[in-house]
Amino acid sequence: MRPLFIAGNWKMNPGTAEDAVALAEAIKVGVGQETRVRVALCPPSVFLQAVDGVLENSPIGLGGQNMHWKTDGAYTGELSGAMLVDSGCTHVILGHSERRHGLGETDHQVNDKLKAALAIQLIPIVCVGETLVEREAGKTDEVVGTQLENSLAEITAEQMCGIVLAYEPVWAIGTGKTATPAHAQHVHLFIRNLLRETFNAATAARVVVLYGGSVKPDNAADLLACPDIDGALVGGASLKASDFLGIIQAGQAVTAKGKA
Ligand code: PEP
Repeated sequence: MRPLFIAGNWKMNPGTAEDAVALAEAIKVGVGQETRVRVALCPPSVFLQAVDGVLENSPIGLGGQNMHWKTDGAYTGELSGAMLVDSGCTHVILGHSERRHGLGETDHQVNDKLKAALAIQLIPIVCVGETLVEREAGKTDEVVGTQLENSLAEITAEQMCGIVLAYEPVWAIGTGKTATPAHAQHVHLFIRNLLRETFNAATAARVVVLYGGSVKPDNAADLLACPDIDGALVGGASLKASDFLGIIQAGQAVTAKGKA
């Protein structure tokens, strides 16, 4: 079965290394050595090494929020996968909607980044999701399907088993509007069926698919209990240790009741 996975995307927060260390320390203490629910923190790149130091002897993983597809060279402002690994990263978020819609990142670039991340053994968290306009036009499945098809181009079934997907409806990110568990489960099932058609049933059963979009301690349990939702990518609520720990505890309770 698929263990639940909760990843915190700190985006461009907090403002100082001191605050980043304090947040990571509080989350580390709260998680302890508990591994029933997997956890990763994705701080801004300048804080990765400091947070990696905090997470020593902790089961919590560390993730970058983006990387370039090239290994080195004249790419001002960019980071390679090797740099993330050198900073202690185990994971990397790819194709977050704030990069797709705010910075023009394309499916093709996400696919190049995905291949580069796999080549250096980073666990990619590939994000997909529809905008409000696309949702209202009834195009959710079509948009998510196209993003997945293009972002996962030339990926083998074996590689796919090591990739985490995140369904994040753009209209729910940072807005306080959460998809209903029924809507999220519908899209997650659509994704799992697509994985079965594209790869095979065994692969579809193994891939971890996260939900993201205003996940909070009070809505986490209902979302995480859905059969095809395997965890959460958490933005705003990952910046407050008690909220993030509340989401992890909701995942632990769901797991204890028999999921995974
Ligand atoms: C995100 O950043 O991936 C996200 C889902 O943000 P929020 O939880 O704040 O909606």
